[in-house]
Amino acid sequence: MDKKKKIQIVLAGAAGFVAMLLFLLGFSFYQAWSNEKALYESTDSALFAQLVGESDEKAAEISRKRIEDAENAEKQAIESGMAHRIEKYKDQLLLLVNPWNEVPEDYIALLNTVEDGYLIDRRCAQALTDMINDCRAAGNLPVICSAYRTHEYQEELYQNKIKRLVAAGTAPWNAPEIAARSVAIPGTSEHQLGLAVDIIDENYVNLDQYQQYTNVQKWLMANCSDYGFILRYPNGSSEITGIIFEPWHYRYVGVSTAKAVEASGLTFEEYLKTLE
Ligand SMILES: [Zn+2]
Repeated sequence: MDKKKKIQIVLAGAAGFVAMLLFLLGFSFYQAWSNEKALYESTDSALFAQLVGESDEKAAEISRKRIEDAENAEKQAIESGMAHRIEKYKDQLLLLVNPWNEVPEDYIALLNTVEDGYLIDRRCAQALTDMINDCRAAGNLPVICSAYRTHEYQEELYQNKIKRLVAAGTAPWNAPEIAARSVAIPGTSEHQLGLAVDIIDENYVNLDQYQQYTNVQKWLMANCSDYGFILRYPNGSSEITGIIFEPWHYRYVGVSTAKAVEASGLTFEEYLKTLE
């Protein structure tokens, strides 16, 4: 074998090895990304301290302030002459928020408290309570784990994620972009509308695809449209929704739209296009 041929074989081997390494690296990054993407959807109350690395006391204080701010929102808005903003969004139950459509800057969420102190848009608070109660009455154990989030709360989660990444060795100039893959950039989380809720099964509290097989999700998926909710991020639709399959995230759109979306088999994004 001549020298040239030997070099060619060695080069080919090296290239194959590098390709394999890159594939493995890419795959593990993708897995970490998927897990974190799921995790960011669970960042309210009970899990708050753990996720942002704060003490329970500090987390409770932030949580309290969040509730206060939200409850004062309408009063403050009217006092500051922003009643027109409330009027503007009053009937807009189908507002689209996703990675490409931010929560409008003048949007005001008007909230009610539901069980465990979670906040939800007052237009769907009763429907959510009814859905949870009926799910329970059917012998299931539903638990809310995330509902309304303020912009500041989302910002805090996002900044904390950046801090933790940097502390773990990520370059500071790369951290914001990497953080955005797992914690929605403030302004692009549907939870900021107050019309989204995450519900899990007490018997299986992991936010992963197996959540779909729990009794709670089976019941919710079969019945949520009766209460005006849709499963917002169905399996195999992440290209369209920008979010991984989340068999725990429900969005309120009102009963007639929920029924129509369900019958169409479309994602919310696709359904809205049919209305244009
Ligand atoms: Zn969610």
